[in-house]
Amino acid sequence: MSVPLAPVLVKPADAHNARLVSYVHPPDWQNPTPASCYNLVVIGLRLNATITRVERSAGGKLVYYEAQGKEETLAVDEILAGAGRAPNIEGLNLEAAGVQYDRRKGVLVNDCLQTSNPHIYGAGDVCLDWKFTHAADFSARIVIQNALFLGRKKASALTMPWCTYTDPEIAHVGLYERDARERGMEVDTYVREFKEVDRAVLDGEEDGFVKFHVRKGRDEILGATIVARHAGEMISEISVAMAARIGLGKLASVIHPYPTQAEALRQCGDAYNRTRLTPTVKKWMGRWLAWQRS
Ligand SMILES: Cc1cc2nc3c(=O)[nH]c(=O)nc-3n(C[C@H](O)[C@H](O)[C@H](O)COP(=O)(O)OP(=O)(O)OC[C@H]3O[C@@H](n4cnc5c(N)ncnc54)[C@H](O)[C@@H]3O)c2cc1C
Repeated sequence: MSVPLAPVLVKPADAHNARLVSYVHPPDWQNPTPASCYNLVVIGLRLNATITRVERSAGGKLVYYEAQGKEETLAVDEILAGAGRAPNIEGLNLEAAGVQYDRRKGVLVNDCLQTSNPHIYGAGDVCLDWKFTHAADFSARIVIQNALFLGRKKASALTMPWCTYTDPEIAHVGLYERDARERGMEVDTYVREFKEVDRAVLDGEEDGFVKFHVRKGRDEILGATIVARHAGEMISEISVAMAARIGLGKLASVIHPYPTQAEALRQCGDAYNRTRLTPTVKKWMGRWLAWQRS
């Protein structure tokens, strides 16, 4: 799973109406989430580039970078650098406690968040792939149950949403299509674009979409992405559905007030239910209605 934690963002000086951003992408960032996943307005994307220096100039700021052996320059208003994070495990003498760690990944834990010393557990950034406040909170809850109350709670069972607070926001929960395929699951995808949602049109917030991945042949939501002005607020409805094992077909029957942007979720449910109208079901429905009229 790739979570966009530390790209280097630069906003082009000449794109006043643009809401994103050029990315200057370090060569070691292995698994970038393609911008096309999100339909974002990407003004420029420089992959495998190494920033060599930055300078102030009369017209703004200049970013110098090397890409494919050539030095190039980009003039920008502002520079936002995602420097990344490293676990602070130096000097803890974890060796003496028999706790294994990796300098990059941090403290190594199993799915129950137990370290290599069974009396010591880990929670939060220092041991999780998810580097979020809510992930730290819920991993600490697992540790309390497992360490103090004989629990066997697993981190892999958590339904973990996240949101990137760009404009529009990008929120996600569960699996991406490629994650599902890697796990041998076939998926059906349902998308509703906000340009088709009345409230988004009224709000002038047509950019973005809701996308659901459902396990093929079953009404089971595997994951979802929302790109919208308030995607971070809307993703929780899907997290609830996933945590409670409520399928997309059932979401279609949840009444949403009109007009709201969250109606896009129900509309994806409607799209899912329409796929259940197979030719055989259609034929029998036709016969039933004809009989009702007779
Ligand atoms: C700029 C930035 C923005 C972020 N924005 C978001 C966001 O919008 N939403 C979100 O969900 N997450 C966000 N995060 C991530 C979030 O802050 C972390 O995931 C979260 O704080 C992890 O909690 P934690 O308790 O595991 O670690 P921390 O909050 O880092 O707490 C660890 C504590 O341990 C202390 N400590 C470290 N080493 C030692 C030591 N040797 N001895 C004693 N104490 C020690 C530290 O001082 C610190 O107080 C952001 C992070 C950054 C850096």
